[in-house]
Amino acid sequence: MSEILRDLSSDISLLSLNTATVRQQWNLAEAIEGCVRHNIGSITPWRDQVAECGLDEAAKRIRNAGLTVTSLCRGGWFPAADREGRQTAIDDNLRAIDEAVTLDAACLVMVVGALPKGSKDIEDARSQVFDGMTAIMDHARASNMPLAIEPLHPMYAADRACVNTMKQALDLCDELGDGIGVVADVYHIWWDPELAGQIARAGNDDRLLVYHVCDWLVPTNDLFLDRGMMGDGIIDLKSIRAMVESAGYPGSCEVEIFSQDWWKRDPDEVLRICIERHQTVV
Ligand code: ZN
Repeated sequence: MSEILRDLSSDISLLSLNTATVRQQWNLAEAIEGCVRHNIGSITPWRDQVAECGLDEAAKRIRNAGLTVTSLCRGGWFPAADREGRQTAIDDNLRAIDEAVTLDAACLVMVVGALPKGSKDIEDARSQVFDGMTAIMDHARASNMPLAIEPLHPMYAADRACVNTMKQALDLCDELGDGIGVVADVYHIWWDPELAGQIARAGNDDRLLVYHVCDWLVPTNDLFLDRGMMGDGIIDLKSIRAMVESAGYPGSCEVEIFSQDWWKRDPDEVLRICIERHQTVV
């Protein structure tokens, strides 16, 4: 943890672009160039875009651009209907750890997965997540690659992640031990009555690894693809940022917006607005 707390909103070097924000307009190479053009210092690429660019080529381009890789999105998706599916997921996560190392990412984000097709047993899905994480922890530790569990809003418990609160994610971290932490994404956690205490807990335990921002629109028209630009919704961004800062989080503030609306706009305009909102409302 840094001795001197930095104001996450006033320092553009602390802004990170999660490439999901402009993924319909730009491939990875274009997103890297966009960050450079707008003086954004950090980037979080997605694995499919890295694969499309080529892993070594992506690493080289990011390095040459002088960008910090705040995380790689993403590993996880452990639960499966049979043993073979579970092993396939584990193998894929081991590869994801290696990719994160090649990219010199600060951590690998984990969206843990949810109910296998046909299942109604969420406790079983959660125990499959624990088993899957356990199976990859040794490789993650040996590779010096922290894993960052992202709890998702409970509306995704069936199809994306059966870890749904900061408390649940931090309890899982405690069971798994060292080399693991959490992603605090305002979209998923803003509603949680235990939020302040759990963010403080994450800070105390050095488990707060990534901070994602966007906004919650009212009404939300699509469960996945209608996230808002910071300032356009109802999340009290400044108060959550204060919690994150007082928990000692020294890292970047990462903009991650999945939105059919923002994907239709000029990506340079999207980045300009991200920067402006980062400095005014985040
Ligand atoms: Zn996120």
